[in-house]
Amino acid sequence: MSDTRDYDLIVIGAGSGGVRLARTSAALGARVAVVESRYLGGTCVNVGCVPKKLFVYGAHAGEDIEDAAGYGWQVPPDSVRFDWPTLVANKNTEIDRLNGIYGRLLESAGVTVISGTATVPDPHTVRVGDQSFSTERIVVATGSWPVIPDVPGKECILTSNEMFYLPQLPRHAVIWGGGYIAVEFAGILSGLGVETTLLYRGDRILRGFDEDLREFTQNELLKKGIDIRLGSTIVSVENAESHYQLELNDGTRMSTGLVMAATGRRALVDGLGLEELGVQLSGSGHVVVDDHFQTAVPSIFALGDVIGTPQLTPVALAQAMVLSRRLYGDGERSMDYRNIPTAVFCQPNLGTVGLTEQEAREAGYQLRIYRTDFRPMKHTLSGRDERSLMKLVVDDATDKVLGAHMVGPDAGEIIQGLAVAIQAGATKAQFDATLGIHPTSAEEFVTMREPVKS
Ligand code: NDP
Repeated sequence: MSDTRDYDLIVIGAGSGGVRLARTSAALGARVAVVESRYLGGTCVNVGCVPKKLFVYGAHAGEDIEDAAGYGWQVPPDSVRFDWPTLVANKNTEIDRLNGIYGRLLESAGVTVISGTATVPDPHTVRVGDQSFSTERIVVATGSWPVIPDVPGKECILTSNEMFYLPQLPRHAVIWGGGYIAVEFAGILSGLGVETTLLYRGDRILRGFDEDLREFTQNELLKKGIDIRLGSTIVSVENAESHYQLELNDGTRMSTGLVMAATGRRALVDGLGLEELGVQLSGSGHVVVDDHFQTAVPSIFALGDVIGTPQLTPVALAQAMVLSRRLYGDGERSMDYRNIPTAVFCQPNLGTVGLTEQEAREAGYQLRIYRTDFRPMKHTLSGRDERSLMKLVVDDATDKVLGAHMVGPDAGEIIQGLAVAIQAGATKAQFDATLGIHPTSAEEFVTMREPVKS
């Protein structure tokens, strides 16, 4: 490491990946600074995973109150009132607390935090305002930002960023998109009593997930009263003072109190000056890196959402661990992008790990498919018309479980445990030899005996 420069490493972006990289590199002896223009903790802590999950809890509480009646609790509907500003204020307090924790973690690791917007005038310099810092290496961890398709009136359309600070909830909302964020926010808004319409251009929401899960989740959302319109997209939006007037691709006009786009996120590299230095961007705008997160400019690296790998916090964290060890430690770990478990926190949750049935068939496996769907025990007394789905994709030749998929309460929690088994290469026989915990939903994963198809 060079002492002639101000730092060994400057990380641009104090999100999940940037903070982890800065801390672990400092712990390995590097002199590290992190530059951040907005908030410590990045999207995940401020306008992503954390506040989203708090809103999901908030939305689900309404169902819990309704479900309590079947268990003898008398909750007169007119005594139950939801107050959105309270939820937002409590969420903000929690985010402030987490911002503070991030600051202290960086401080105690000996990382210098520089507030402001960074530019990279040369491969060993980061400029923030009128200050320039020299550094041996630069890591770009600037994350991603929501994209709104280019339609007339797009300035009226909100993204998830603004949804976390809405002053009040509308009576009716339109959500545009059919991926993670669209489906999660449809669940949140609908659960909080907002009439919700979801517009998706395809023929089934949640493209990329197992087809059975997509169909099942879509049906569950429809049962909850979410108005899902398939093959549907926004052509224009007009601000009509008290409401928004939408025109859809089939000519339909629709009036609503809020329009939110959840139509993907692009890499956030604007104004850094990377391309001028020779850093390559892909056609989709991501920073191009090799297997070791190095760009075409040897002293500049990148990780997290900005490089186009799955836009998930645990992926950015793992990349940061690999890169810090490579630059300053034993360099022994590498990224393994197989079997990334993931959950969509709609209601009920969707959780998944490993190959979908379709991916496994395309890869040429001969399969055994195990599948069950049932009414969770809780709803026998609550009377709620909600079902759960579980599915195992098994390689017939080796008996290895290639994928586990679930829609149902706590699917994320359940799939996280199964991800260990699948990463360890567990076979269906080993699932069968595992005793269940009775009575749980999760035990179904070890009691599915007969394949439903091969
Ligand atoms: P996604 O890529 O998940 O979904 C984007 C959706 O928008 C898709 O349904 C896509 O349709 C649609 N779409 C894209 N472009 C257009 C367009 N021009 N017109 C109409 N529809 C369009 O992105 P999100 O924004 O939902 O989330 C971004 C990422 O953030 C996720 O992919 C995920 O990695 C991460 N995330 C993770 C969460 C979690 O772990 N629980 C929660 C939230 C986000 P089509 O399918 O046809 O392409």
